[in-house]
Amino acid sequence: MTPPDLSSWNPGPWRGWLLPAAVYLAMPWVGWWAWRVERRTLREGRPLFTSEWAAAVRVGVRHPEKVRILAVEEIPMPGLGWMHLIAARWGFDRRHIGGLCLRYGIILRRDLAAQPVIMAHELVHTAQYERHGSLTGFLRAYLFQCLRHGYCNAALEREAVAKSTA
Ligand SMILES: [Zn+2]
Repeated sequence: MTPPDLSSWNPGPWRGWLLPAAVYLAMPWVGWWAWRVERRTLREGRPLFTSEWAAAVRVGVRHPEKVRILAVEEIPMPGLGWMHLIAARWGFDRRHIGGLCLRYGIILRRDLAAQPVIMAHELVHTAQYERHGSLTGFLRAYLFQCLRHGYCNAALEREAVAKSTA
């Protein structure tokens, strides 16, 4: 997930326990959603070009051959409209999101798909999924970091920003 605007995150009153509890309860469903969208991206996407393959290896992806890229008009997000509003408060405004990484399925907004930094950013997330061992393993760690520290301060997000702009 690519954040162009790093200053918009506002924890709001939910952060204490209600939102973490809701995310915890929603995890199996979020994992199922992520798995379905990854599967569709793997089916419809293209493999990495040579230069992208090199970038994947550079940021630590162990299986670049499994990655598929899909360019879309609008990045999909799980849940209903009111959930998107909460997510937007929390830094995940879908209008500002340029890419989404679901392990080996990388979805990029069509107007940004040619930008190597965005591609590299999502590939760092692919490497992080590999390190965490599963879709839900990564998503749980990532979402809780975002809740605790804010989207732009989450360690996994900072690593993606640092390695994609290095
Ligand atoms: Zn990201």
